[in-house]
Amino acid sequence: MTEIVRTIPVLPAELDDQPVTWHGWELAPVLSHGEQGCDICDHEGPLSLAEGRGEDRTRYVAIRCRRCQQTRVMTRDRTKLQPLGGHIYVWESPAQAIGADL
Ligand SMILES: [Zn+2]
Repeated sequence: MTEIVRTIPVLPAELDDQPVTWHGWELAPVLSHGEQGCDICDHEGPLSLAEGRGEDRTRYVAIRCRRCQQTRVMTRDRTKLQPLGGHIYVWESPAQAIGADL
């Protein structure tokens, strides 16, 4: 079997003027309501999700479409996800290769 290699955006090493440590990508859990798929390319999901932790313990969540790689980063307040600084971030570059379908 050939391993799938795809290119995904690199997550920011720094947010809100502090270093952020990111954990690996995983498939986002299916939510009972809210966004399941991609509103850019209409991919039905599931989306990929990565969690990050800032130096001041702020929790960040990156959500990425596995087809078009549109990526948004949000802060996480317990169970609520909020766009970072009121904005939706989209990373188009730089890119890194990932060896799994996540
Ligand atoms: Zn997409």
